[in-house]
Amino acid sequence: MRLSDVLSKLPKKEYVQVDSFLQNKKGTTGQSVNISVGNIALNYFCMNCGDLRTFYSKGKLSVIFVNKRLISIDSALTCGCGASIPIWFLVESKEDITGQAPEIRILKKSDKLIQSTRIRSSQFEEFSNLLDKAEQAYNEELGAGAIVYLRKILEKITIQSANAINIEYDKYENGNPKNFQRLLEKVDEKCSIIPKEFSKDKYKLFRELSEIVHGDYDENLGIMKFEALNRLIIGILENVKNHKEIMNALETLQNIPGSKRKV
Ligand SMILES: [Zn+2]
Repeated sequence: MRLSDVLSKLPKKEYVQVDSFLQNKKGTTGQSVNISVGNIALNYFCMNCGDLRTFYSKGKLSVIFVNKRLISIDSALTCGCGASIPIWFLVESKEDITGQAPEIRILKKSDKLIQSTRIRSSQFEEFSNLLDKAEQAYNEELGAGAIVYLRKILEKITIQSANAINIEYDKYENGNPKNFQRLLEKVDEKCSIIPKEFSKDKYKLFRELSEIVHGDYDENLGIMKFEALNRLIIGILENVKNHKEIMNALETLQNIPGSKRKV
């Protein structure tokens, strides 16, 4: 596997062995090297093109050694239309990175999104923006911040679905449900919106979301749980999207003149 293959995937905790790409370099702190390792290819929603596009790096990547086990990589990715995004990685090696076939992993990745691009396609409409923010917070290791966005998505999608299929619930004056978990259970009983993968202990993850949001803000816990919770939320969004009854009801609501577009 080449370094560019690893950089083209979501960061994982496990080390992956790659072809040597810094062999025979000194690796002194601050040393900078340009390397040819193929192109990085990542999907983003291009606002110019109005669609999901693959953005590629061009030419060499610039590497700076922090030490022999840690390097920083800078690049710019471009869409065919010319839109571009700067991207930065911190890559860690299990042992000497200048060796043959080093085992590496991405420690940090930051894509400072400019207006023309977004991480996801707009397939989840208003929720895409919140998903992007959650992922950006996670990339910056702001665990509790990332979880707050996921929790917000869960609340919004549950309330929208409940309203669409006329589930009654006790509300506060501002319209928020008095017992959110009960509402989630009611919507799920009727429409099975919680992915099967999580069905064994359905509401445990929801409680964890709440605990991280309302309890002692624990960044590490947020980081550790993020991947699972992110999968849960995306799964729920997909299930709602594929649920005919909810979608028909939402579409009907949207077609009423003067009604606000909700999804
Ligand atoms: Zn484009």
